[in-house]
Amino acid sequence: METIYEALGVSRAVYEYGETVLASLKDRFAAIDQNAEYNQCKVLSAMQKNRVNATHFAATTGYGYDDEGRQNLERVYADVFHTEAALVRPQITCGTHALTVALSANLLPGDELLSPVGAPYDTLEEVIGIRESKCSLKEYGVTYAQADLKADGTFDYDAIRAKINDRTKLITIQRSKGYATRPSFSVAQIGELIAFCKGVKPDVKIMVDNCYGEFVERLEPSDLGADMVVGSLIKNPGGGLAPVGGYICGTSECVERCAYRLSAPGLGQEVGANLGLMPAFYQGLFLSPTVVSGALKGAVFAANVYEKLGFACVPNASEDRHDIIQAVTLGSKEGMEAFCKGIQAAAPVDSYVTPEPWAMPGYDSDVIMAAGAFVQGSSIELSADGPIRPPYAIYFQGGLTWYHAKLGILMSLQKMVDAGLIQL
Ligand SMILES: *Cc1c(COP(=O)(O)O)cnc(C)c1O
Repeated sequence: METIYEALGVSRAVYEYGETVLASLKDRFAAIDQNAEYNQCKVLSAMQKNRVNATHFAATTGYGYDDEGRQNLERVYADVFHTEAALVRPQITCGTHALTVALSANLLPGDELLSPVGAPYDTLEEVIGIRESKCSLKEYGVTYAQADLKADGTFDYDAIRAKINDRTKLITIQRSKGYATRPSFSVAQIGELIAFCKGVKPDVKIMVDNCYGEFVERLEPSDLGADMVVGSLIKNPGGGLAPVGGYICGTSECVERCAYRLSAPGLGQEVGANLGLMPAFYQGLFLSPTVVSGALKGAVFAANVYEKLGFACVPNASEDRHDIIQAVTLGSKEGMEAFCKGIQAAAPVDSYVTPEPWAMPGYDSDVIMAAGAFVQGSSIELSADGPIRPPYAIYFQGGLTWYHAKLGILMSLQKMVDAGLIQL
């Protein structure tokens, strides 16, 4: 084993350091496997109930009327997430697009959107109009309010109650930390927050940005009262096989509005050719619980490796996981670059290139990204990224297999050692 790792560029010292850390993680890995087993059964049950068969894998073109494969996939998703309806489409280009559809379909001029969990994900700032943009919700007369988390990262219920008013139509809860060093929320915590908000205003709609959270736990936010859960198919639920797409699962009322917004009023869910993507969407969903478990093992391994070396990790080495993201505060631009070089060098695709910071659209500071992915930008595949700004934290996620995630972390460690940034 040492020899094959040496051939890949991992020194014996780095490999052995990794093995020492791994020896302490057996119970953690067993618990991750148990959740994957549970979620695999959940997905299988939804597929069996909806009698998935080869006709569902047929391609449709043009309008995509009577696309039984697409309609059945949406029933499968609705059953997996325990919702009345689902919109699962290749025409949803990314997570930000899915969230934009969900927000703009369910907010009208004069309505207010509330985030009770602090600032939303970077790309949503322009969607909402926190940063000025053409076609933002703000431009259409939708206002935005925010209740920040308390200093210890918990919900500020008094502030949230104070921010809910007559105009509060929709509340958005982001499950994953995104590019922040706050904790990600467990589904149980989100359930409590939903219950609180609905207690203050029973008819308020709750949307959960579910990106990176799917299949990490046994429950999803839609099991605990969310009206919509929204995410990207090039993250967890696409299982690495979906080459594009997004989903919105929720109440029939909310999802129908989303479909009218995505296509056109009156057309809604009836149109949208699947372009031959059904095999990838079904099979990706089928593999997703296992893929997510590999990514989680990688995250737990990374936290244990880097925390031992003195770097702050969110979540820390021993905490429970609520998403697949691992933040490691490397403290410098050089640290971020070395880490990303290692992830890149470990990739099956583009392993020979060197990641460099750039001004990525939608983000307000330079971002560095390492990804050698089969699907461009896919972050269920092994990837690391982060904005070049204090505290210089890298966000590490994904890995279609645990073994690849492991190599990525060992290579990152190797590059940090080579750059003289750490000593084992
Ligand atoms: C990835 C992500 C999004 C959407 O990002 P896209 O790159 O547009 O898919 C939104 N919210 C969170 C928390 C995310 O992690």
